[in-house]
This record gives sequence, C-alpha cells and structure tokens, in this order.
Amino acid sequence: MNNTLVINSLLLISQIQSPEPKFLQLKNQLERVGFQVVIKLPPKRGAYGLLREADKKIWINPVVFDLNIGNQVLIHEAVHAAQLCAGKGKIKVLGLDIQPSNYARPFFLRYRDVHRQELEREAYAVQSQVNSFQLAISLLQKHCK
Ligand SMILES: [Zn+2]
Repeated sequence: MNNTLVINSLLLISQIQSPEPKFLQLKNQLERVGFQVVIKLPPKRGAYGLLREADKKIWINPVVFDLNIGNQVLIHEAVHAAQLCAGKGKIKVLGLDIQPSNYARPFFLRYRDVHRQELEREAYAVQSQVNSFQLAISLLQKHCK
C-alpha cells in the first residue's frame, strides 16, 4: 500500500474522531448561519482560532484537539461570530453582564486596541462560564438570523 495514502487516511481519521459531539453541534450551527468553519492552521501564527470578518471564515487550529480545548476555542470564536452578526457585519460588543475569570485577563489585556480588548474580554467571559456551550448557542440564535 502506498505510504502517502496510509498517512492521509490516518490524518482523516484523527480529524473526524477528535471533535466531540458538542463541537460538531456548534460548528453546524455556525455553518447554518453563514460561517465557514475549517480545521486548519489559522493564517495568524500561533493562534488557536481565528475569525476573518470579511468573509465569515473561522479557522480552528487542529492542535486544540490534542490540548483538549477544542470546544473552548470554538465557543470563543462563536462569540466573535455573534458579535459580528449583532453589528451587522461590523463587529461589536454584545454588552453581556458577565466577567471573564482572572486567569483570562492576560489573554485579552495583551490587545492594544481598546475595542479589540472589549471584544476579547467578552469572548473570554463567555468561554469561562459553566454553561459556556449553551450560552454560545443562544447568542448565535439571538444575533444571527
Ligand atoms: Zn478572540
């Protein structure tokens, strides 16, 4: 058997098996409201996830499945998706009354741009809630129609 073929099918298996049902459910919902979700290295070096606002494309770095943070990263990007829907194409803060956990502070404070910082603060706030998955689903339902 051809070696390349074996490697390719192994990669395929790991990509299909890694995402959990919740991950797939949220991915499907994002796709239903017009976002494209790809499991590939994001164009921004070192990023776990990325949303490109211009064409509503979301990258999820495959490494997140090895790190067991696949759901968290997709939830984070789903919040940005809801922010984009809410702003009708110009991303804006939803104004949720929740705060991120302290551990997340360095992650959003590193953004220099204040608007970006607020967007990130909100995404980290959602992802650190106990009901983060349900919250992400309902934010998409509310803002992306
Ligand atoms: Zn973010």
